[in-house]
Amino acid sequence: MRALRLTAWQSEPVLAEVEEPVPGPGQVVVRVGGAGACHSDLHLMHDFRPGMLPWGPPFTLGHENAGWVHAVGAGVSGLDVGMPVAVYGPWGCGNCARCVLGAENYCENTAAAPVPGGGGGLGLDGGMAELMLVPHARHLVPLPGGLDPVVAAPLTDAGLTPYHAVRRSWSKLPPGSTAVVIGVGGLGHLAVQILRATTAARVIAVDTRPEALSLATGLGADLAVPAQESAAGEIRAFTGGRGADVVLDCVGSDATLTLGAACGRPLGDLTIVGLGGGTLPVSFFALPYEMSVQTTYWGSRPELAEVLDLAARGLLHTTTTTFPLAEAADAYRQLAEGKLTGRAVVTP
Ligand code: NAD
Ligand code: ZN
Ligand code: ZN
Repeated sequence: MRALRLTAWQSEPVLAEVEEPVPGPGQVVVRVGGAGACHSDLHLMHDFRPGMLPWGPPFTLGHENAGWVHAVGAGVSGLDVGMPVAVYGPWGCGNCARCVLGAENYCENTAAAPVPGGGGGLGLDGGMAELMLVPHARHLVPLPGGLDPVVAAPLTDAGLTPYHAVRRSWSKLPPGSTAVVIGVGGLGHLAVQILRATTAARVIAVDTRPEALSLATGLGADLAVPAQESAAGEIRAFTGGRGADVVLDCVGSDATLTLGAACGRPLGDLTIVGLGGGTLPVSFFALPYEMSVQTTYWGSRPELAEVLDLAARGLLHTTTTTFPLAEAADAYRQLAEGKLTGRAVVTP
């Protein structure tokens, strides 16, 4: 079968012929319906060098996947061939205190995971291929309510990651509060909707691109702010001078972190989701009083089930552009050039 492979660090992915996977005991092979192209894959292609991660190429890209059960290994029960499923992407050891709770994104025994801190599309073969080997049936979540794998695939990362980030700040988002989403791409366009669906906060979207701001407004953002010098002032003015209760930075550059600190409210949260490589100098007067700053990484399996439920109820809509597998490399080119709105999804 054909697969889009990263064959070396610091290189562009290539379409290659690989063996079809066969499920061993406890394993499942998924026929891929959709595989999202995440900006993290661009970081993988361009920002890493040998030795920086405990795993490396070659492997098939695609770490946000959904499709249908194609074949099950010995001992797998409850998953029938043809059943639509989403793939829970972070693959941990399965036995540590975090994994037992379904938070394999924060596995504490990564040495016992299939690849330390990685998963399908991140060190192991991912979903940019006709078939994908999933090493344990617990990594599959049945798709509820007739959800199409093409719209479900981005929910496993572009949806799950901001859902986890928003959920941990729920207590700071009562009626009267304001949340800011910086970067309205794959993650951000779902972050706007997750805030609308699960909190009473007013939502402000910030982006450099007019098309991204239009998308945010169309998805229910209360205010769309161009990412420029005046952005912090506009956000302060909209909040009556108080500042935003929660800022989700889906870019993570020096500029966006500075904006996040400048537009936040005392006691607020600044959550760094983007891997933009920026830094935020911290000192007593550099942040609003008692602002909490944290990173977040992906989300838990129970949270994925919650995201899928929101989508099945029609509360989340993935904006997608689809690409056949033969044009998957072009999806990444367009993502790198900022030409996409929402998420590019490869349909093998
Ligand atoms: P994307 O390319 O789809 O979206 C990024 C958006 O940010 C674009 O709309 C772009 O116009 C906008 N942007 C760029 N620079 C900006 C600036 N200075 N100010 C405001 N907006 C700006 O990317 P994505 O797939 O949504 O990923 C976003 C980031 O999140 C990436 O760094 C990615 O690696 C990271 N990520 C992190 C996790 C995690 O678990 N923490 C998970 C997935 C992705
Ligand atoms: Zn990702
Ligand atoms: Zn674990």
